[in-house]
Amino acid sequence: MSVRRRTERTRYRRRTRIADVTTAFVGIGSNLGDPESQIGSALELLAAEDGIELLAVSTLRETEPVGYLDQPSFLNGAARLETELPARELLERLLAIEGRLGRVRGEGPRFGPRTIDLDLLVYGDETIDEPGLTVPHPRLAERRFALEPLAELDPDLEIRGLGPVQALLAELE
Ligand code: ADP
Ligand code: MG
Repeated sequence: MSVRRRTERTRYRRRTRIADVTTAFVGIGSNLGDPESQIGSALELLAAEDGIELLAVSTLRETEPVGYLDQPSFLNGAARLETELPARELLERLLAIEGRLGRVRGEGPRFGPRTIDLDLLVYGDETIDEPGLTVPHPRLAERRFALEPLAELDPDLEIRGLGPVQALLAELE
């Protein structure tokens, strides 16, 4: 008589719901006051948010203004984060941080000077087109100052609807 060993099948039940986590990229810019310290403060506030884990920050680069030229040059960079928050909620947090750092919207020229600008550039592989929220960011493909830090954080990044970040940069050459 052969003894058959039955493999014990253990079923693990998940007790706590593990929230879906999305990798997102946030563009950061500033050209008023002390851009370096404002960007530092924005990153600290971002890292302190529940539901957001700040994973990496690109180098900050000085860039010439586009759109509205008569203003100081910008300091620009990007951050990679993981978040449990839906895109809309993440944008709300970004706008709230802008507000806490003294950005007043609706004043001055479009694309004009700002103490801090936080843009949701990429949210996983989602495309969103709602009032007040477009993802990938609507002007990403034409903005070297946003694409370069993205490529630095993830050289192989494929941006849904736009293509590989490297190809977008090459098209700007
Ligand atoms: P920009 O960042 O393009 O220079 P603003 O910072 O003035 O322009 O943003 C204007 C509005 O754009 C914001 O109030 C926001 O509701 C909207 N918006 C739409 N999609 C996005 C996005 N992906 N990231 C940030 N803002 C966005
Ligand atoms: Mg913005």
